[in-house]
Amino acid sequence: MGQTIQIEKAVSLKEKPDVSTVKFGTVFTDYMFSSNYTPEHGWEEPSIVPYQNLEISPAANGIHYGQSVFEGLKAYKNGDEVLLFRPDENFKRLNTSLERLAMPKINEEVSLNALYELIKLERDWVPGGPGQSLYIRPFVFADEAFLGVRSARTYQYNIILSPVAGYYGGQLDPTAIYVEDDFVRAVRGGVGDIKCAGNYAASILAQQKAAEMGYEQVLWLDGVEQKYVEEVGSMNIFFVRNNELITPKLNGSILSGITRKSLIELAEYKGYTVKEERIHIDELQAGLKDGSVTEIFGSGTAAVISPVGRMRIHGEDYVVNDNQVGPVAEDLYSHYTGIQYGHLEDPFGWIV
Ligand code: PMP
Repeated sequence: MGQTIQIEKAVSLKEKPDVSTVKFGTVFTDYMFSSNYTPEHGWEEPSIVPYQNLEISPAANGIHYGQSVFEGLKAYKNGDEVLLFRPDENFKRLNTSLERLAMPKINEEVSLNALYELIKLERDWVPGGPGQSLYIRPFVFADEAFLGVRSARTYQYNIILSPVAGYYGGQLDPTAIYVEDDFVRAVRGGVGDIKCAGNYAASILAQQKAAEMGYEQVLWLDGVEQKYVEEVGSMNIFFVRNNELITPKLNGSILSGITRKSLIELAEYKGYTVKEERIHIDELQAGLKDGSVTEIFGSGTAAVISPVGRMRIHGEDYVVNDNQVGPVAEDLYSHYTGIQYGHLEDPFGWIV
């Protein structure tokens, strides 16, 4: 693949919306990244084309058997500058996902450079309001018209962009969580540790069940014994117990979140003790009963930190930290978002 990317200009540009009123993932920018894969030529030279519908066969393999993977990251505005947060990590994880589903790996450097070009072209779409950002969605799926179950021969790779409002109206907001002990999200040896489309399809019913009972997210237990805490919704999970920060150890069924990894680094840098452990749900329940667990929060690109204010475990409701945002969540959130938006020094070299 070459150095400069080909750009097909759009005939007209869209009107930009008031991002503060836009629902997540409903508005898309003028352009997208596009590259196709064939066994003969590998990934073709990527190009930037006007945002448009894709053309696929009704027999496209990816629709039927789920060879479909994606990533999610954001661009932030600081004055005239547009900042990306560890984008290399997302392309690295995209390749981990591709490899696991026997799909062809992408070139991470070419992808990064193409993303920079795309963001440069679309820089006016990066919103500058508090908490706002441009959500970036790279995805790859199989498009070979063939109904046999094997790795497809052809693929499409696109990156689309969507301006999004802040997850919270400026302040962190505690959520209610339902500990799911019937459905599971992932099993060891499966695909829980990658970002494939099927994982999200499989999670929706439990999410709906929790919502009907008045909870916003599901806490997933491990898929083997259904005893150990894994993730919350599509976020990783952290606890504060006896002033130590604890998160489940990666075990092959937990997604290795980039926010998780970065929060661990940031917390250690700030002097917190951080532990990666296997956490039994009964241990968590006991910690909530005796008051040693003082905070619980989820971590992910969408919200950065999502504090838990209430949790239902084995049919009993527990209030966490008086349903208030805890000091550790607050401290990490403000430091982390300060780095992301370029307001605070970045001693880690995360910002591009
Ligand atoms: N777990 C799951 C299942 C997810 O979908 C996500 C979102 N990518 C995360 C955790 C958090 O990952 P990240 O911090 O990289 O956004």
